[in-house]
Amino acid sequence: MIYLDNNATTRPSAAARDAMLSALDELWHNPSSTYRAGQATKRAVELARAQIAKLINGQPKEIVFCGCGTCSIHTAMAGIVATHKHIEKPNIISTRIEHPAVRAMSMQFNERFEIETRWLPTGEGGRINPDALADLIDDNTILVSAQWANNETGVIHPVAELGKVCREKKVTFHVDGVQWVGKMPTNVGTGTPDEILPMNMDDAGQYIDLLSFSAHKFHGPKGIGALWIRRGTPFAPSSPGAQELGRRGGTENVPGILGMAAAADGAMEFLNHPTMMDEMRTHRDRFENRVLELVPTAVVNAPADPSHRVWNTSNIAFPKLEAELLLLMLSERGVCASAGSACSSGSLEPSPVLLAMGIDPKLAHGSLRFSICRDTDPGCLEEAAQTVAACVHQLSGTVPV
Ligand code: PLP
Repeated sequence: MIYLDNNATTRPSAAARDAMLSALDELWHNPSSTYRAGQATKRAVELARAQIAKLINGQPKEIVFCGCGTCSIHTAMAGIVATHKHIEKPNIISTRIEHPAVRAMSMQFNERFEIETRWLPTGEGGRINPDALADLIDDNTILVSAQWANNETGVIHPVAELGKVCREKKVTFHVDGVQWVGKMPTNVGTGTPDEILPMNMDDAGQYIDLLSFSAHKFHGPKGIGALWIRRGTPFAPSSPGAQELGRRGGTENVPGILGMAAAADGAMEFLNHPTMMDEMRTHRDRFENRVLELVPTAVVNAPADPSHRVWNTSNIAFPKLEAELLLLMLSERGVCASAGSACSSGSLEPSPVLLAMGIDPKLAHGSLRFSICRDTDPGCLEEAAQTVAACVHQLSGTVPV
């Protein structure tokens, strides 16, 4: 099998698996218990918190463990909205290309609390246009929520520019970093100065107030995510309880947390490697160019500037083809890819994200996402490109190049 669906989920690393197993076998006591075994578990959780904070160059106390990326997003958005009950006609600002986790939350705010959502437009290649933000913000804006990287296309959004406007206008800025953290260098800038890793150089994270991320996107387990909350950000828990410094109640998922910490270590090793990210980007580009060579009608759904793309994602449109059919055919031949986000797959509708990006519905209908990971064997990518081309030619009745 050639697995090219790493934006849906990644295979847990051996270290993450081992950490989870040892937690199940040895650290199964409740971290809130006062006896030694409970305290040993608590210590392990706190060490894990510190390792995870390092991945984003944040403070351990700013990390709140959550059930997954979706849960982190909901905790963040609800936590900010609840601190603004005094505002009469509140509004939030987001984009139409967010993951369903964010879009669903905006809809719920609207239905339950009549909170208006204002939409930031996207420009070339589906990149959020930051110039529009200042004019959308008014005295009743309580939150701006935007993604760092898009799950379907891998486009990187101008987080620094958006964040600077939010800072200037004193509006809380939440970022969905689920497709970013663990794959790209992240620096929220509150970590201990002498511990800054070479990878944590970019300053975009310094304008973020809340950052959501999820372990299973960087070789950790599913069912565990984190919300980083910058110290001093007003926040009201939607799931109150004693754990997580009162910001999210519930007995901790210790195996998940320890697995996430081991995955964070693996991600840091990758990110600190001087050439690995560039090498993987080259492999992605080679795969993409090979598909375009073999299927000249294919079009890449991406911004023209390569620095606006995450290294692992390739979204390719095959005109006049039905993506679901192509996916089934690829699956029969051992290639795993996807159309749209994993959460909406199974639907025959073209991806709302691609439509919101202004991609022609006919192209959106035939668009597939291929996403590699740091462990992808480059040798398989040539075989994958040939398989994709063979399937496209068979389905469209065209002759291979
Ligand atoms: N946000 C983005 C951009 C995603 O890609 C995903 C998952 O695909 C999520 C949020 C939700 O994360 P999780 O699957 O951990 O709930």
